[in-house]
Amino acid sequence: MTTRVLVTGAGGFIGHHLARFLKNHGYWVRGVDIKYSEFGKTDADEFEILDLRRWDNCLRATGSIDEVYALASDMGGMGFISSNHSRILHNNTLINIHTIEAARLNGAHKALFTSSACIYPEYRQMETEVEPLKEEDAYPAQPQDAYGWEKLFSERIFSRYGEENDFETRIVRFHNIFGSEGTWEGGREKVPAAFCRKVAVAELSGDPSVEIWGDGKQTRSFCYIDDCVKGIHKLMQSDYDQPLNLGQDRLISINGLADLVADIAGVEIEKVHVPGPQGVRGRNSDNTRLREVLGWEPKISLEEGFAETYQWIKSKMKERLEGNGRHSLLKVWAKSEVLSDGLEKIEKQVVQSELH
Ligand code: NAD
Repeated sequence: MTTRVLVTGAGGFIGHHLARFLKNHGYWVRGVDIKYSEFGKTDADEFEILDLRRWDNCLRATGSIDEVYALASDMGGMGFISSNHSRILHNNTLINIHTIEAARLNGAHKALFTSSACIYPEYRQMETEVEPLKEEDAYPAQPQDAYGWEKLFSERIFSRYGEENDFETRIVRFHNIFGSEGTWEGGREKVPAAFCRKVAVAELSGDPSVEIWGDGKQTRSFCYIDDCVKGIHKLMQSDYDQPLNLGQDRLISINGLADLVADIAGVEIEKVHVPGPQGVRGRNSDNTRLREVLGWEPKISLEEGFAETYQWIKSKMKERLEGNGRHSLLKVWAKSEVLSDGLEKIEKQVVQSELH
């Protein structure tokens, strides 16, 4: 019998790729989101537009499903996360609490929750040369933002459901996933996509300045999307029900990432450091348990992953520029991630500048 899976957030970056991966591996896939993917047709067998904050919609989404991959989340890069705390807490708590209960009531066997490295305590991430984070470092808890607190709370919900019901749960903690077919403009993009876009602006406009929030010495690790979906699937198939990191353990500064993308693009850039939210000072993944549990870890290099991602984002920008001749867009794209409430204003300015 074909296993029937639900991917929530299937209109988003990771969900869109995951639906394709699962379909290619013989699953019957239902995708659910509040929007379709902007980046291509879904590979899911069925795709429903449903707001998963609503209980009735969660019941509908989880009907006749064996396994749930819970990816739906109201989220974005640092600009969005650091300025939408109550919205994130409200929306994501409702989505997760309703999804898991509906899955249980509808008789699903398994559910995987997508958590984040943002759950780790701020006090372990104060230095750039940071000690990689092990799963047990999560407590005593002190995530930096509401986004991390909600993820930690939802980890608890999923694991308690697993302990107390005839129901298996999996919890994955992503460390900065990047790749093509994800948000690259508009205020919700994360640093990998934002840098590809800014370097592409430098290439397309001939202006070498690239804005970076803060001094750029803050460090992170980044994991390519193909490794991410493979890891999610491996975890779902394993019998491991505790939280597990999924990321690379190659630490790189934000300045270093800008240089890496510029090298790939073959563009000379001039880094301009501007004030902006930076998140924690340093963060890396300890993959010891990942290797133990899955006998595998992400392998695709940053150079390989960014070569693909850069070309994809540049091609999207060219399509937009050629499609409607909005050259003033280059100015908008050159800016650091724009906070969501400023977006509408900027879009209006762009439209105005084109009309005159
Ligand atoms: P994404 O924003 O591209 O996808 C999330 C999707 O959830 C979006 O398409 C959005 O429309 C959908 N969604 C939001 N509210 C909804 C609602 N009320 N009902 C139905 N759908 C709704 O994000 P992503 O990068 O694909 O992330 C997927 C999951 O992984 C999220 O839970 C995210 O928090 C987690 N995560 C991602 C990263 C990363 O680096 N991308 C890191 C850590 C954790």
